[in-house]
Amino acid sequence: MDFSYSAHTADLLDKLGRFMDEHVYPAEPVYDEQIAAADNPHEQPQIMRELQARARELGLWNLFMTHDGLGAGLTNLEYAPLAEMVGRSIIGNEAINCSAPDTGNMEILAMFGTEEQKAQWLRPLLDCEIRSAFAMTEPAVASSDATNITSTIRRDGNDYVINGRKWYTSGILDPDCKLIIFMGKSDPEAPAYRRQSMILVPADAPGVEVLRDLPMFGFHDRLGHGEVQFTDVRVPAANMLGAEGDGFAIAQGRLGPGRMHYAMRAIGMAERALDLMCRRALERTAFGGPLADRGVVREWIARSRIEIDQIRLLVLKSSWLMDTEGNAAARSEVAAIKVAAMEVAHAVVDRAVQTFGAAGVSNDTVLARMHAITRALQIADGPNEVHLRTIARLEVNKHR
Ligand SMILES: Cc1cc2nc3c(=O)[nH]c(=O)nc-3n(C[C@H](O)[C@H](O)[C@H](O)COP(=O)(O)OP(=O)(O)OC[C@H]3O[C@@H](n4cnc5c(N)ncnc54)[C@H](O)[C@@H]3O)c2cc1C
Repeated sequence: MDFSYSAHTADLLDKLGRFMDEHVYPAEPVYDEQIAAADNPHEQPQIMRELQARARELGLWNLFMTHDGLGAGLTNLEYAPLAEMVGRSIIGNEAINCSAPDTGNMEILAMFGTEEQKAQWLRPLLDCEIRSAFAMTEPAVASSDATNITSTIRRDGNDYVINGRKWYTSGILDPDCKLIIFMGKSDPEAPAYRRQSMILVPADAPGVEVLRDLPMFGFHDRLGHGEVQFTDVRVPAANMLGAEGDGFAIAQGRLGPGRMHYAMRAIGMAERALDLMCRRALERTAFGGPLADRGVVREWIARSRIEIDQIRLLVLKSSWLMDTEGNAAARSEVAAIKVAAMEVAHAVVDRAVQTFGAAGVSNDTVLARMHAITRALQIADGPNEVHLRTIARLEVNKHR
């Protein structure tokens, strides 16, 4: 077993480390200030455009994309430490065009899109000229079981007609969002896993109405999480992604790598929280000594180090399995890492919040936001219980 980085990864890590120190961390407060001052808080701030231009010049662009010729040519294993490094900043992913939901959408367009669909949507997404959203979850049904999805995609001559209500459609409020990948029922009579399809819907199509911007524990993300009504939205039949009934198969393709990316970035968040916790514990004095000398704080720090290193190893193993044996072979590990990484990151961030006292719950540090993100990501992209169900099923099956 070799734990060293490939030459390509080592070179990119070096560049990315300098980019983070010199540009991304200093831009964090500017990003927030520009959003607060903007007429539309969902518009991309100027500082982000500058970061993206710089990242592109440095070759730090679309690093997540493992499909030939579209990204930097990295494997999942090579991307993992880079995603971790960028995950230390909440604005890091966007700066290098590696943020959800665009990453997952780009992946499925690369895998399932026609040449026309790729030219119209994938190329501008890779160049960050537009952004996209993914609309699967519905307020009215338990959407962690996607067979429940009730929205409809009905064939009508050379078009499809789309109806339904979605929510937590991330990215939809960004004025640059031009594409929605919509999941709905195209054939209610088909076998359970062939009933759903995915179709490409221009965000400005008549009948698409964003009803509200949903918060995440009170935070409103720049990209926005929309509740969206689709009423008789008509798109050409050529907008179907793959074939009718392919919705579930495509969803699997989308979520495997995406879950790994979340886990990789969660390690970055946990590392940043641990850094902050250690520094604060050294400088803050209570009852006659620095917090860093208290046994309980030392235990929080030590446990955080152990847990972070454990999940990093699991991320690397899962990435390696995906690279060498494919996404399907890594199913149990990917499910495991989605649960474990978020739980660990949340626990570490929570200890850091406690170490900071009131400052930890203010917005003066990144901790409160990281607390919300690492909690919400135990629901988004499949709740923990659904991943545990997958792991248990695969495990029990070994003994049948
Ligand atoms: C910040 C954020 C961003 C999101 N972005 C998007 C997006 O861009 N596009 C999109 O389509 N969706 C998005 N979602 C929605 C997310 O994917 C869903 O919330 C998730 O799949 C769960 O569906 P649900 O909310 O309908 O919960 P439900 O299906 O109603 O489940 C509720 C709870 O039941 C429990 N549960 C479910 N199944 C089981 C089981 N088998 N065993 C035991 N317990 C179980 C779980 O604890 C679960 O949390 C986002 C959510 C959040 C919070």
